[in-house]
Amino acid sequence: MNKKGILLVISGPSGAGKGTLCQALLNEEQSIFLSISATTRPPRAGEVDGVHYHFLDKDIFEQMIKRDQLLEWAEVYGNYYGTPVQFVREMQEQGRDVILEIDTQGALQVKKKFPLAVLVFIAPPSRKTLRERLVSRGTDAPAEIERRLSCAAVEMTLALKYDYLVVNDEINRAVVKLLSIVRAEKCRPGFFEGLIRDFS
Ligand code: 5GP
Repeated sequence: MNKKGILLVISGPSGAGKGTLCQALLNEEQSIFLSISATTRPPRAGEVDGVHYHFLDKDIFEQMIKRDQLLEWAEVYGNYYGTPVQFVREMQEQGRDVILEIDTQGALQVKKKFPLAVLVFIAPPSRKTLRERLVSRGTDAPAEIERRLSCAAVEMTLALKYDYLVVNDEINRAVVKLLSIVRAEKCRPGFFEGLIRDFS
């Protein structure tokens, strides 16, 4: 009877732990599908085309924008990132749940197009913890860490536009909160139109 799926949008500052949380959610709820974004940034070591991202040349990405093949797109840290619309459309037609792990600019575009999308902001417990995480990750130079911290300051101001905020202080606790959000959202009466009609 539950024919519709939810569109779950996860954002948050770099280093907040969005990727780990999304992965944990996907492991817990096998009925959720992750949208693979397109990007013009080069792959990092260990990243696989079609698994982590669809790695595209800039001209191909721009063609996708022109042809309206992206549900949303944004320029983040000097590269393009976007959500291919076809996958999301297919999943929605099949009534499946989809997660988009995208930046705040993209998330707000999705909310405009799909007001029922559920926007979840993942926040680090403090600015100090975020800095420590970015430093201990060891992937970015000090100047890049400063840039990410000032982006985080801007992103945090957008958190109030989201439906939920999950503080990722401890991963297991944060996963439970995220799962609770998904489960509660799936109990909205709008998802049960078939069941309701069945009684008329
Ligand atoms: P990274 O390069 O570290 O994988 O991602 C950089 C940022 O781009 C992250 O904040 C990530 O959430 C965001 N991002 C990844 N895919 C998309 C997308 O399809 N659309 C938008 N708007 N942002 C994305």
